[in-house]
Amino acid sequence: EAKTRGRGRVAFFDVQLRERLQRYLELEQDLRSAVDRGELWLAYQPIVNLHSNRVSGVEGLLRWTHPEHGTVSPEEFIPMAEESDLIHHIGSWVLSTAVQQVAEYRARFDLDLRVKANLSVRQLEDPGLPEAVDRALRGSGLPARALSLEITESALMHDPDTAAHMLDELRRYGVRLAIDDFGTGYSSLAQLLRLPLDSLKIDRSFINDIAHSHDSEALVTSIMAMAHAVDLGVIAEGVETPAQLAVLRRLGCDQAQGYYLGRPSPIQELPGTIEVANRRAIIE
Ligand code: C2E
Ligand code: MG
Ligand code: MG
Ligand code: MG
Repeated sequence: EAKTRGRGRVAFFDVQLRERLQRYLELEQDLRSAVDRGELWLAYQPIVNLHSNRVSGVEGLLRWTHPEHGTVSPEEFIPMAEESDLIHHIGSWVLSTAVQQVAEYRARFDLDLRVKANLSVRQLEDPGLPEAVDRALRGSGLPARALSLEITESALMHDPDTAAHMLDELRRYGVRLAIDDFGTGYSSLAQLLRLPLDSLKIDRSFINDIAHSHDSEALVTSIMAMAHAVDLGVIAEGVETPAQLAVLRRLGCDQAQGYYLGRPSPIQELPGTIEVANRRAIIE
């Protein structure tokens, strides 16, 4: 009996594995034409400045609406794009779309809104990136200082010398640079100090327990002290409750982002999303 059950389980895993492989191959194939078919779009999540208590910027987060599979997460398809050269095509689409949409939004609502866009580790290795960023900015009319590029800690540490060189180049064009998902990689303070960064985003895993755990609070306090000592602005990711927001404000965190303040939403819904975030930034 055990044998039959064992065989059934093998067959079950076999089916699951085959379905996963099938999905992978399908998505990988369809991703090639997703940009041209207009299936990619950016969701925007508000970022609140905790000194002015107002929304100061938005982060553009990539979404793929697949005709059969529905919304596919960037965590699933970005790695696929990185496996091929597609990441460059998608990456430049993200950049030009983000700066264009936010430039239009600023003009329409007469608002000094900043935009953050995420870079892949592969884009950091592309010598044409700084010019592509410059071209996107010129095409949109967005001032360079209103754009901030986010690079994950692990992407920066993948090849620190190449990254340092690229960041210097990008800085020359006047864009700001942020280290994303801080705390999940293994960078040393010495390595970080070499990089021309403007801000540091504390990964949401550190924010999660901040309202209930003294250890968590102590950890975030020390990350913030370190960042401020080297003149980096601090942004907390994954703020889901008013209690977390209150702690962050008490600790002197500069900016906050998370579901409590606002979820990533289509640009058409951004005015309402920003209004709610502005309200929640004041009322705790
Ligand atoms: P990220 O840049 O660290 O973005 C934050 C992620 O946390 C987003 O997931 C966001 O929706 C989610 N998030 C925001 N607030 C909360 C919260 O309060 N609670 C929880 N549980 N989650 C929250 P998303 O949109 O699925 O993106 C995942 C990752 O995919 C991003 O992490 C980023 O690394 C990558 N990504 C997104 N867009 C792009 C892009 O245009 N290019 C590249 N290369 N990567 C991108
Ligand atoms: Mg990010
Ligand atoms: Mg992050
Ligand atoms: Mg992340």
